[in-house]
Amino acid sequence: MIQEAQYHARDPEFRGQRSGGPMIPTCDLINTGSELVLGRTLNRHGQWLGSLLFSQGAQVRRQLTLPDGAIIAEEIERSLNEADIVLVTGGLGPTSDDLTRDYAAQILGCELVEDEGAFSALAARFAARGREMSAMQRRQALLPQGARALPNPRGTAPGIWCGPEMLGGFRARALCLLPGPPSELHPMTSESLLPLLQAEFGLSAPVSDLKAFHFSGIGEGDLAAKVEEGLPGDTGVELGYCAHSNGCMELRLTGEQASCERAAAWVRKNLSGDCFGEDDGCLEAHLLRDLAARGETVATAESCTGGLLASRITDVPGASSVFGHGFVTYANEAKQKWLGVPGATLEAHGAVSEQTALAMADGARAASGATHAVALTGIAGPDGGTAEKPVGTLWVAVSSSGHPTVARRHLFTTDRATFKQLAATNALDLLRRRLAGQL
Ligand code: ATP
Ligand code: MG
Repeated sequence: MIQEAQYHARDPEFRGQRSGGPMIPTCDLINTGSELVLGRTLNRHGQWLGSLLFSQGAQVRRQLTLPDGAIIAEEIERSLNEADIVLVTGGLGPTSDDLTRDYAAQILGCELVEDEGAFSALAARFAARGREMSAMQRRQALLPQGARALPNPRGTAPGIWCGPEMLGGFRARALCLLPGPPSELHPMTSESLLPLLQAEFGLSAPVSDLKAFHFSGIGEGDLAAKVEEGLPGDTGVELGYCAHSNGCMELRLTGEQASCERAAAWVRKNLSGDCFGEDDGCLEAHLLRDLAARGETVATAESCTGGLLASRITDVPGASSVFGHGFVTYANEAKQKWLGVPGATLEAHGAVSEQTALAMADGARAASGATHAVALTGIAGPDGGTAEKPVGTLWVAVSSSGHPTVARRHLFTTDRATFKQLAATNALDLLRRRLAGQL
């Protein structure tokens, strides 16, 4: 998530007119709840609202995840002084830890007053269920004086909108408090919050463009070096990198449409060898589409991944049109029996070797009749390494009709589960490079 936030962090004051374009309001997003910082609940609102606000043309300046307590008040106040829009989620309920509305009233220096509409909605909700409303429950109808209640038909606590007339002395022109439960937050955002933001800030479409390129077979550092050494310095785009856990890399370009187009053209021209796609970041899906278009098939031969490679391929709907055979040959005996790897090769070079990887790929292609076969063999660890072949050693190979079979060595010192993902990705990457005519 740190990487996700990086390009905003580079320029916290990023705001304003771009080449005569509209003003881009900045937005601070504060997600509250001790369960979030304790790791008991994943903060999904940060991601959901972050991408929504971007798509609406706001610039998320910072996202904060805060425990219940006075720190929420401190940060709301700071945000009101620094951002144009301040959104706070959570803490609107009836319990003693639900204090967001109290903090807002305190910061704005106004009283909490009962909102008639909010009270009626609350009363109707309790009446419909045949339940008494307690004094604690009734607190949910309290709003800072002058604020507007955002209806919450799926829950009890209304959202709270404080517009510019309440925010004199602050930079912000909107403070909005939203409920924590996603089933309440999501509809309230689209039904009430977005129309208000549109009216106040003219938001409706992304002011900046976002292009995402996906890479395999190249590490984060190498990709960044290629981009930052090669991309002309004055493109005016923000760069964002994200290393996915399966080893694929994402490069995001954000900025004005024309600048983004120019930078994207540079990426397409100069990084095409490592890049497998735009927008769609699924390497397997990309390969399957490519194979299907060529009328070709692929088989897999796996050792250390135990079937993960075949599993990832078959996660893609329609895989059966290009994939029919996956061999899991964990033991040497299986490599000999199903793939015809010569005993002498295993004896002389070991199971994790270039020679074995090549023989596995050729054997899988011969046994399956597929156009291509990819093979991998490695030492996932934590045990089994030697000085010559340390834990993390991986050989991947690709065999294709009409081409020499090639193998590549990698070393990934990581945990077992990550190693398996990286192994599968690098086997797929080798096939991608073969299909692209690089091998
Ligand atoms: P309630 O009336 O339920 O108390 P609330 O507005 O006070 O609503 P919270 O108490 O902060 O909201 O959160 C209620 C529930 O909503 C949490 O238990 C959690 O399951 C979910 N939730 C809150 N914030 C988030 C978040 N950032 N990401 C995902 N889920 C969340
Ligand atoms: Mg609560």
